Amino acid sequence: MENIRNVVIIGSGCSGHTAALYTARANLKPLLIEGLEAGGQLMLTTMVENWPGFREGIMGPDLMAEMRAQAERFGAEIVQNNVSRVDLSQRPFPMALADGRPVLADALIIATGASARWLDIGSDRKLSGHGVSTCATCDGYFFRGHEIAVVGGGDSAMEEAVFLTKFASKVTLVHRRDTLRASKIMQDKARANPKIEWLLNTEIDEIKDTGKGEVTAMVVRHAATGERREVPVTGVFVAIGHNPNTSLFRGQLEMDANGYLITHDGAKTSVPGVFACGDVQDHVYRQAITAAGSGCMAALDAERYLEGSAHDAPLDHAVAGS
Ligand code: NAP
Repeated sequence: MENIRNVVIIGSGCSGHTAALYTARANLKPLLIEGLEAGGQLMLTTMVENWPGFREGIMGPDLMAEMRAQAERFGAEIVQNNVSRVDLSQRPFPMALADGRPVLADALIIATGASARWLDIGSDRKLSGHGVSTCATCDGYFFRGHEIAVVGGGDSAMEEAVFLTKFASKVTLVHRRDTLRASKIMQDKARANPKIEWLLNTEIDEIKDTGKGEVTAMVVRHAATGERREVPVTGVFVAIGHNPNTSLFRGQLEMDANGYLITHDGAKTSVPGVFACGDVQDHVYRQAITAAGSGCMAALDAERYLEGSAHDAPLDHAVAGS
């Protein structure tokens, strides 16, 4: 039997799990496809202090485990898989999972989030996992007693720099401008930390290694004077923002110049029956709580869409093929 679902949700961060919870509670038996970065960005975070309801904070991975379990409790089916192809020109929308399994969806909720950005210098990507990282939580432990660097001027860079001072003997924060984008509270925290040194107005031209995958230094350039110098470090953490995960939908859905999905009237995309939520459509707020809120909106919009389309065709395949 064909695996036809009322609602398929792609992505398992705050927005995807919230959409799964709401559509499950609406008895739509949603299928949530977790994607490659299961749990989304909170899996790469330590303490989340701004999620309402937890006055002492909650660890990011713990919060995601709770969300997943809550969605499952109400009947969401969650599969560890990735979507390799989707066709939004036909209905129900046909898609293929990475293992080749076909799925059809009457309504689709895109919650694919955004992935860490790299510098344009080549050596950072080449040395990823060998002294260069985009995840302080994952890799900080390996740099106990080392001198390392964090690149970026946003909240992520501040948070990672402060976190890494738990392990490193010194953290050099490299930012390309002389003003930071980070919120004042995060800046103040970082500025108050004596283990953090600041290299503002500075870009990294190159990351040097031993040839055996061990970072030895970064070559930095002052943005105003052009002066270059080598700074010894054994690790570089890149925290310069994210790119939306929208390559599957290129040419099929309206996007902005940076590839973020454009939504209107709630969570609607340019194709009826396709909804988007979370960081894949939000380059402004990008908070866990706003992602969850937009996941709720996508679920309610999908529910209304399905109710409307039920007048055109019967919807009797809640669990078909599962
Ligand atoms: P972001 O705010 O977009 O900041 C990215 C930073 O990287 C900017 O300072 C940017 O420089 C720099 N950058 C971008 N491309 C670069 C390049 N090619 N070379 C060098 N530097 C580059 O990203 P984010 O810090 O990841 O934060 C994203 C969102 O998540 C924000 O809304 C933030 O508030 C939120 N967040 C919140 C928390 C928290 O509240 N606990 C923690 C982390 C993130 P310019 O400033 O010059 O553009």
